[in-house]
Amino acid sequence: MPFQWILKECFTLDITLSIEISATWDLLKNIWDLELRLRVVSQLRLASDKSIRIWYSNGGYHAIDALSLCTLCNLNAHETLEHFLIHCPLYSPIRNHYLERYVTGSVNDGQGLVSLLTVASEKQLDHLYYYVTGALKLRAFVINE
Ligand SMILES: [Zn+2]
Repeated sequence: MPFQWILKECFTLDITLSIEISATWDLLKNIWDLELRLRVVSQLRLASDKSIRIWYSNGGYHAIDALSLCTLCNLNAHETLEHFLIHCPLYSPIRNHYLERYVTGSVNDGQGLVSLLTVASEKQLDHLYYYVTGALKLRAFVINE
C-alpha cells in the first residue's frame, strides 16, 4: 500500500475516532449533569422535619437544622425545607427567577412544596437545581459574614 494511502487512512481514522470520542464525552457529560440534578432533588425529597442535608459537586456539603429558627430572616420560622424553598425572603430574588412558575396551589398547606418537588420537565429539574445551589451559596455567604 502506498505511503499516501496509509497516511490518508490513518488521518480519516483519527478524525472518525476523534468525533466518536467527542460524542461519547458529550453524552457522558450530559448524563453526569443530569445525575447531579437528580441527586439534589432526591436529597430535597429525603429532607426530614429535623434536618436538610444536601451535597452537590463543587458546592460541598450543607446541613440545615430544621428545628432551629431561621437566622437569615425575621419571619421567626423554623428553617424547614418549605421555608428554604418557598418562604424565606433572603432567597426571593433567586426564587422569583427560577421557581415561582412551579409553585402551584396554596403555599401554606404543603401543596406548594409538593408541586415544586414533582419534577415534570428537564427545565424544571435544571431550575430547581440552580435555585438550590444558588440559595445554598447565598446562605453560606451570609452565615459566614
Ligand atoms: Zn428565613
